Amino acid sequence: MSIEHKTGRPIDELIRDGEDPELLYAELRSAFEQERGKASTPQQGQALRDRWLGRRSGLLSATNDHWLKAAPRELKPVVGKLQNLLRREIEAAVEAAARAAVEEQAQAEPDLDATLPGPERACGAIHPVRLALEEVLDIFRPLGYSVAEGPEIETFFYNFEALNFPPDHPAVDEMDTLFLNDGALLRTHTSPCQIRIMESKRPPLRYVVHGKVYRNDTPDATHSPMFHQLEMFAVDESITFGDLKGTLEHFVRCFFGPQTQARFRPSFFPFTEPSAEVDITCPFCSRSGCRICKQTGFIEVLGCGMIDPNVLRNAGLDPQRYQGFAAGFGLDRFAMLKYNIDDILLMYQGDARFLRQFR
Ligand SMILES: [Zn+2]
Repeated sequence: MSIEHKTGRPIDELIRDGEDPELLYAELRSAFEQERGKASTPQQGQALRDRWLGRRSGLLSATNDHWLKAAPRELKPVVGKLQNLLRREIEAAVEAAARAAVEEQAQAEPDLDATLPGPERACGAIHPVRLALEEVLDIFRPLGYSVAEGPEIETFFYNFEALNFPPDHPAVDEMDTLFLNDGALLRTHTSPCQIRIMESKRPPLRYVVHGKVYRNDTPDATHSPMFHQLEMFAVDESITFGDLKGTLEHFVRCFFGPQTQARFRPSFFPFTEPSAEVDITCPFCSRSGCRICKQTGFIEVLGCGMIDPNVLRNAGLDPQRYQGFAAGFGLDRFAMLKYNIDDILLMYQGDARFLRQFR
């Protein structure tokens, strides 16, 4: 960095030409005073300090090369003295300007102590439901599954009819479903996405679908009117119940630990036939019985089955040619099991003390 004289010529050139050090000192000082007069904010004060006093590239450091070194031998003591004087003056002026800026700010806002450290900015944490979701997706993506979401406001057809619910099924009742105007409703499960995907894409299909679902439930430790559901389904030629079992056994071992075993119990769902509920060996007590598994050694975690031929037909697929399986569960419940959370409502209260634990 070179210091230029007001004539536009480099200062070392002037020195070589025998310019009087006292005059050069006066030039530098007045250049500084001019810049200082323009610096009115703390940021500009800092910039002024960096420009003149910066250890490596400050103008004063540059005077070592351009002024002191270039000066004839007999003038070096004079130049050194003037250089030190200039440094002290600039340091004092910069210091005074910084103090004045703080005082000015304090006067403008009398309650503000500008010397106090700023407020701490809270750092966010990943929500346990999101953590559980990412973990599930990490298990299914390598198996060739795509991830999809769908609308939360659904029609009666996609939420119930296409999924083979009989009109008198209790879920269809207003007791369980939150209906909106004009026959629309808040989806009670993520399964309508199965129909939407089967309608728009041709097999083979492998999908994980997830999102918020809504039930007309009174909130308590295990129920929330809104919760997160995740389901996976596959449709292809010659898919069997064995494929379903193998996939789910792999999944629960990956998610709950390699010792985890799955137990399939016959069950009923309108949209699958045959249907099963899946229990896993309790990951908390290794089957010896604890509070979480209610001393049974098993925990019920998901429902599954072979997609009912009626559902395939409703989505425009030929059930003679295609078969499929589907399985679904509550992500909130999975997160609760994984992270040992005993109240689902904690998930939705936005309490930073609770959420911070998952950082
Ligand atoms: Zn247990």
